[in-house]
Amino acid sequence: MDAFDPIQLHFNFDNSFARTFKGFFVPCQADPAVAPKLLQFNHALAVELGLDPVALNSEAGLAIFSGNETPNGAEPLAQAYAGHQFGGYASQLGDGRALLLGEVIDTQQRRRDIQLKGSGPTPFSRGGDGKAPLGPVLREYLIGESMHALGIPTTRALAAVTTGEEVYREKALPGAVLTRIAASHIRVGTFEFFAAQGGVEKVRDLADYAIARHYPDTTDAENPYLAFFTAVSDAQAALVAGWMNIGFIHGVMNTDNMTISGETIDYGPCAFMDTYVPGTVFSSIDRHGRYAYANQPEILTWNLTRLAETLIPLVDPDKDRAIKLLTDSVQHIQSLYETHWLSGMRSKIGLTTEDPHDLELVNDLLWVMKDGQADFTLFFRRLSQALRGDSDSVRNVLEQSGAFDVWARRWRKRLEKEEVAAESSAQAMDRVNPIYIPRNHKVEEALAAASDQEDMTPFSELLSVLSHPFDEVAGKEAYAAPAPVTDTTYKTFCGT
Ligand code: AMP
Ligand code: MG
Repeated sequence: MDAFDPIQLHFNFDNSFARTFKGFFVPCQADPAVAPKLLQFNHALAVELGLDPVALNSEAGLAIFSGNETPNGAEPLAQAYAGHQFGGYASQLGDGRALLLGEVIDTQQRRRDIQLKGSGPTPFSRGGDGKAPLGPVLREYLIGESMHALGIPTTRALAAVTTGEEVYREKALPGAVLTRIAASHIRVGTFEFFAAQGGVEKVRDLADYAIARHYPDTTDAENPYLAFFTAVSDAQAALVAGWMNIGFIHGVMNTDNMTISGETIDYGPCAFMDTYVPGTVFSSIDRHGRYAYANQPEILTWNLTRLAETLIPLVDPDKDRAIKLLTDSVQHIQSLYETHWLSGMRSKIGLTTEDPHDLELVNDLLWVMKDGQADFTLFFRRLSQALRGDSDSVRNVLEQSGAFDVWARRWRKRLEKEEVAAESSAQAMDRVNPIYIPRNHKVEEALAAASDQEDMTPFSELLSVLSHPFDEVAGKEAYAAPAPVTDTTYKTFCGT
């Protein structure tokens, strides 16, 4: 390997978590990678982070992204957290296959975590190997970038490398490391861990830290900790509404996979729904459908209730009063969610104003889609064509279109109140209804080519299409189409 010059790389680390929470993380080093290879590098994100993309897209960058070199100023550590997994409490989880390198302040003055995922075992690995196969690493890269382009808050990928080592799952697979960027890695499960291990004082420290980092405005509230809870609830309600609006199923909404910042995190068994079936579950481990598409809003409240429980002693010295205040806030989450969701659904059908009957109009449309077994993404994308005089395009996405025609008459009447030209509404719809989402068969195709044939071409092509999900490109029809019909249901695996 060429001489490594860390000075050139200018990571401006400022590691506030490491400074603040001694005892709640373990300093750790990554396992050396025997023959690392840089597969994918996110140039635009590097620029956003204030890093030098040219210096990083190199042997020196590879040394860092594979865990072989620690950049100047990094303090690699594994964070401790707990969490409720499928409803049951796990008191000790933590970064079992990840290392936080540190935090940098980006070009917009935002503090961002840089984390290696798949870099080897830590004291939290609990028998796991701390490694990640290439498939899941590329999957997280792809879906995270797609979500970002779709306008959904998300952690992102700065780089994906292979380590030159095999990792063993059901078979030997190429080992890989993802460099993940996050607003922070503080999870609902981090609060649960701090509450269980450090009591009130530690939860207060963590809440103060999270407020300063993510919700500084709540400092001035009459009750800052209650305001903090409401702010997290609102961010998470907006996030889950965003998922529902584009047909995204996270798949493993355990409390350790729910961020305080409101970013989507941990793309394990996630997938986008093709045909609109509210009960859709892809994850092979979600046997009872706890994290089915339609259950996500309910799980949002369930998870945030776990956060609320940790905040009781901070919200009021009188426990009963604290519980009452937090309960009131918890009871408000579904209405926060519905507001975000309805606002998203209004945009999807071209509405910019509010009418008391909109909820009914949207819900009736969902019935039409469900009965007509519509492809969720194609249906909304083609709906704008109906405003351009072509209703067949959307009718063709439905098994039967009679109910749609009835609904469309009500919709057109409602659109008249908008007092804008049909073409303007159609264009606005095309800016929120993607044509390209990570279709499951396309994702699998790209990951298989990379893992089995060391061919990154399908991945690069898919990534490029997904980076502009609202712009239709001639020749890319295959990326917009649902999976060919087969008799096997698509299944996803945690796998990382
Ligand atoms: P996740 O499925 O990403 O939410 O992970 C749940 C927990 O399992 C976290 O504490 C992870 O660090 C841990 N974990 C998952 N995969 C591995 C692995 N291969 N080795 C060690 N720990 C792991
Ligand atoms: Mg996780």
